[in-house]
Amino acid sequence: MEEKLKKIQQDFLNKTKDTKTLAQLDELFIALFGKNGQLDELSKQFKDVPKDELKKVGPLFNQIKQQLEISINEKRGTIRKQIYQSLQNEKFEIPSERTGRKEKKGHLHPVTQFEEDIVKLFEKLGFVQTDAPQIDTDYNNFEVLNIPENHPARDLWDTFYIDTTNYKLQTNKLLLRTHTSNAQIRILKNNKPPIRVMTLGRCFRYENADARHEHTFEQFEIVYVDKDVSMTHLQYLSEYFFKSILGKGIQARLRPKYYPFVEPGVGVDASCAFCKGKGCKVCAGTGWLELAGAGMIHPGVLTRGGIDPDQYSGIAWGVGIERMTMLKYGIEDLRSLKSGDLKFLGRF
Ligand SMILES: [Zn+2]
Repeated sequence: MEEKLKKIQQDFLNKTKDTKTLAQLDELFIALFGKNGQLDELSKQFKDVPKDELKKVGPLFNQIKQQLEISINEKRGTIRKQIYQSLQNEKFEIPSERTGRKEKKGHLHPVTQFEEDIVKLFEKLGFVQTDAPQIDTDYNNFEVLNIPENHPARDLWDTFYIDTTNYKLQTNKLLLRTHTSNAQIRILKNNKPPIRVMTLGRCFRYENADARHEHTFEQFEIVYVDKDVSMTHLQYLSEYFFKSILGKGIQARLRPKYYPFVEPGVGVDASCAFCKGKGCKVCAGTGWLELAGAGMIHPGVLTRGGIDPDQYSGIAWGVGIERMTMLKYGIEDLRSLKSGDLKFLGRF
């Protein structure tokens, strides 16, 4: 037994001396002290050792165990010291030194820049910004906005529904919001008229991506509720927006359009900035571009938001941010905005 012990002692002292890395040292430590390691295995044999011999072997076992532990710890310290020294001697090069190129500063994405512009624009009119979740309930995204299940209007939004079968949730009807209008019920419930609130952010639809469509896109929307709010306000706000963003000469035109949560609903056109209304390729010869959707908030929606439609009226007005960014900067393909192409993004 004593011999076996001394053999382990010599063997592991040599091995410790030869190790070069912390990982090797860890392996050594486990082979020695770990469960079923060499010392563990040896101690299991103690029960067969005669009592007299055990009196001698016991203390020796402890002594050698301690010695080996200390030697491994010391070696660990030595290796660490070597690592620190080599790190101190290492010289870090920064890219501009290596390439000789001048340092390049980044900037906000054109869509973000544009969003900041719009927010400032409506802040001037007293609108405050709010937020709504990108994953929302079917109720907040559709039902509360007069779009019950199986309503044909649902076909207007190709929706990403979320499979919740494996989760214990209060509702199993979750989706990626198809529009920022999921903020409407929250805005109405959380505020008392006069309400001037704007919201913006990412929305999702199950669409094939092409030059004018993306499955992931940004929307901006305002909700304005007060006494005697009318279509006149809608016309004014549309013109205020277009003139501020696209230029003073731009006019706004309201055209009847169906959205279930407004009554009446309108498509909002801007006179074409490219041909000044004469008709060109961009506006398909019409002189107008449809840029926003809006309308008077439906009395049913107001009621669900806790607002008396006999006392108050409101407008909702929304625009696709990427579409406006394209128009403002003359970008031809919507997909380039999310391409991550620095050459393209560097232009803005
Ligand atoms: Zn045109």
